[in-house]
Amino acid sequence: MKPVAFDYHKARDVGDALTALGAHDGDAKPVAGGCSLGPMLNLRLARPAKLIDLRAVGELRQLVRAPDHLMIGACWTHAEIEDGIVPDVTRGLMRQVAGGIAYRPVRNRGTIGGSLAHSDPAADWVTTMAVLDAGILISGRSGTRRESALSFMIGAYATTLQADELVTAVEVPVLSAGARWAYHKIARKTGEFALAIGAAVHDPARDYARVVCGAVEAPPLLLPRTSEALRESPSAAMKAAEAEIDTLLSAHDGIFKQHHNVAIERALAELGR
Ligand SMILES: Cc1cc2nc3c(=O)[nH]c(=O)nc-3n(C[C@H](O)[C@H](O)[C@H](O)COP(=O)(O)OP(=O)(O)OC[C@H]3O[C@@H](n4cnc5c(N)ncnc54)[C@H](O)[C@@H]3O)c2cc1C
Repeated sequence: MKPVAFDYHKARDVGDALTALGAHDGDAKPVAGGCSLGPMLNLRLARPAKLIDLRAVGELRQLVRAPDHLMIGACWTHAEIEDGIVPDVTRGLMRQVAGGIAYRPVRNRGTIGGSLAHSDPAADWVTTMAVLDAGILISGRSGTRRESALSFMIGAYATTLQADELVTAVEVPVLSAGARWAYHKIARKTGEFALAIGAAVHDPARDYARVVCGAVEAPPLLLPRTSEALRESPSAAMKAAEAEIDTLLSAHDGIFKQHHNVAIERALAELGR
């Protein structure tokens, strides 16, 4: 199948992209890597009147270092993160995650901003940004706002993003020298979308501990009691997780809980090593 005919506009800058998006009353769509939008167009699941190409927009390729975070422009690709062209302030977490996304041709095109905007619940950046408590920067014609990764995603393929807004960047917290992280992705084959993700970050110097279940067919699930127990030790967190995952996932129909138990267990075991 081929897409329904659409117009094409190559945006010069963020302002130009926002104007073009606003001019179409919700009927225009931004395109970054095209890895997800391309198939949706071909299957006619998306039928925008106009595509706004973001790839030449320099502002979406900014890298701005602050003492406590790195702002990464939305159009940096997974491959550029994997290769360390984008500095990794997460002590290796982001490079590992990027390298596990799909296969290299997809990573060469797919962008961090596109992945977050698309918000496939099984996608890797969605869970990674949630466990890091990253911020998502969003621009619209009325200005810019910042949302935490956890509140940005409100459902499967659903975010707080409006049709005339863009994800412009992510603010990724800088992990301290003593911070530890683990990311365990269960997939049928290497590089496939996840069936379950267990992700944990413990950064005592910042008094930060967080454990998250990803790929739950909904926004990533924060495990508050497990996160609290992680401050004590990974084994205390493991004990807390057993009960907590069961309770929290009981509200999620059709989820294979065992995958999530194993993903979290392995992530916490890795932290304990
Ligand atoms: C075969 C295959 C395997 C994959 N495996 C994985 C995997 O294992 N893990 C994983 O995490 N991902 C995986 N992906 C997804 C892929 O890595 C991309 O991240 C994803 O397709 C979206 O990025 P993109 O830049 O291509 O976005 P696009 O396809 O260009 O856009 C996706 C959506 O986001 C919107 N959009 C794009 N950029 C912005 C922006 N800056 N602001 C607002 N809206 C925007 C578009 O309008 C569209 O609705 C896979 C994709 C394919 C094709």
